[in-house]
Amino acid sequence: MQIYNTLTRKKEKFAPLQKGSVHMYACGPTVYFYAHIGNLRTYISQDVLRRALEHEGYKVKHVVNLTDVGHLASDADTGDDKIRTESEKERKSMREITDFYSKKFIGDIRELNILSPDMMPKPSEHIADILSLIKKLDGKRYLYKVGGDAGGMYYDTSRFKGYGALTGMNFEKLQTAIISGYRVERPEGIRNPTDFAVWRFADPSMKEFVWDSEYGRGFPGWHIECSAMSMKYLGEHFDIHCGGVDHIPIHHTNEIAQSEAATGEKFVNYWVHMEFMQVDRRKMSKSFRNIYTLEDLEKKGHSALGYRYFTFGVHYRKLLNFTFEKLKKSEDELSGIYAFLQKVAEVAEQGSGSADPEFGKLVDDAKQEFFKAIADDLNVPVALAKMHSLINDSSTRLAAGKMAAEDAKKLIAAFTDFDSVLGLEFAKYASRSGIDSAIEGLIAEREKARKGREFKRADEIRTRLLHEFGIALEDTPKGVRWYRVGSKKAPA
Ligand SMILES: [Zn+2]
Repeated sequence: MQIYNTLTRKKEKFAPLQKGSVHMYACGPTVYFYAHIGNLRTYISQDVLRRALEHEGYKVKHVVNLTDVGHLASDADTGDDKIRTESEKERKSMREITDFYSKKFIGDIRELNILSPDMMPKPSEHIADILSLIKKLDGKRYLYKVGGDAGGMYYDTSRFKGYGALTGMNFEKLQTAIISGYRVERPEGIRNPTDFAVWRFADPSMKEFVWDSEYGRGFPGWHIECSAMSMKYLGEHFDIHCGGVDHIPIHHTNEIAQSEAATGEKFVNYWVHMEFMQVDRRKMSKSFRNIYTLEDLEKKGHSALGYRYFTFGVHYRKLLNFTFEKLKKSEDELSGIYAFLQKVAEVAEQGSGSADPEFGKLVDDAKQEFFKAIADDLNVPVALAKMHSLINDSSTRLAAGKMAAEDAKKLIAAFTDFDSVLGLEFAKYASRSGIDSAIEGLIAEREKARKGREFKRADEIRTRLLHEFGIALEDTPKGVRWYRVGSKKAPA
């Protein structure tokens, strides 16, 4: 498999450190608010990467952190702690805030059918590990103390040879870029504009998420948390580190500086970064009122898997423009795939005839091309195009009644294979029992929407049931009954 490495700025053949296994870390959300759909796109892309590696036979150890302390208003260590600010605004404890939004995030990724990470560590539960890394850096004289308002232990970036390699800029250039782009208010006493805090001193009013240490009472910086937790669980040198492109100039640059200074060896082999998303060709921002969460989409009658499929339209390293029209179009397309799979399943279960070698070859070729595209730096749009052309060819045969049961089974096996990377729950639609449970699931979802007085969503689900499955509903005093249109008979 080829994967684009930000560090070398080219596609490279992936080779793991340990045969057969991959250690992969992704910067998770700072759990002070809902993840928006642009954030979630990043995690969907990472999920495809993980699934593609697993499809190639690797055992993947996947760690995603949940940042619950130390992420300041600006990524460049200025301003207040995001969670502290939110906790004051909502008049809740920091723990309550982080627990609430962590649960929301985990719920979102579950709905998006993102494989659950092996671990989701929180920095507040790893203070000892973080402090031991700080001590190592201090012992090697990378740190210095800064007093005052933004006081703390700072990392001297000029001491680290090759600082900023991930950005492609040299040290001097980076200083200017950081001054003009990111860092307006710098604490006094700082040596270089790119220097950052690994430990911030707490002001005496802080009661929660502060710890005593030999450096004074305080809390860790955001960057050191990821270095400490990734190395703890994946080793000092591991395979893949992912994140959004916004992490390149500061957060990941600083992770490299800390980790490599502490261990004296290479930190990560492949740096994989996901591009941003826009909404209606504009940056997502509060002032444009165009920040949407998954829940917002669902309230408007859209589905999580429909959104997942929508993000597949553009390569993960390209800007994706979100519009509700395009989302709707993607959802219709996905429904079309599900409807197609149901027809194939019917032939597989009830059809006859013997396998057609010509069709078999068509399926094999499509499979090969699909996975060739995936292995080319996860080119999902190209892979999907191959899949759709297989659907077109197969649909012609289906319509002409020329598909044998054996061919249909082969086709289903191919789609199950595609889905191991796509994660769109094709299997649900490719067997009679799967279809029945999908119907039951949708009915339950509609009931939930009705109870929550989300009638528009309830109606959408009813329409979907009719169009995708040919299922009509009857609301009776005893509850909902469903039957296949044309057979007005409730299931046993
Ligand atoms: Zn991180």
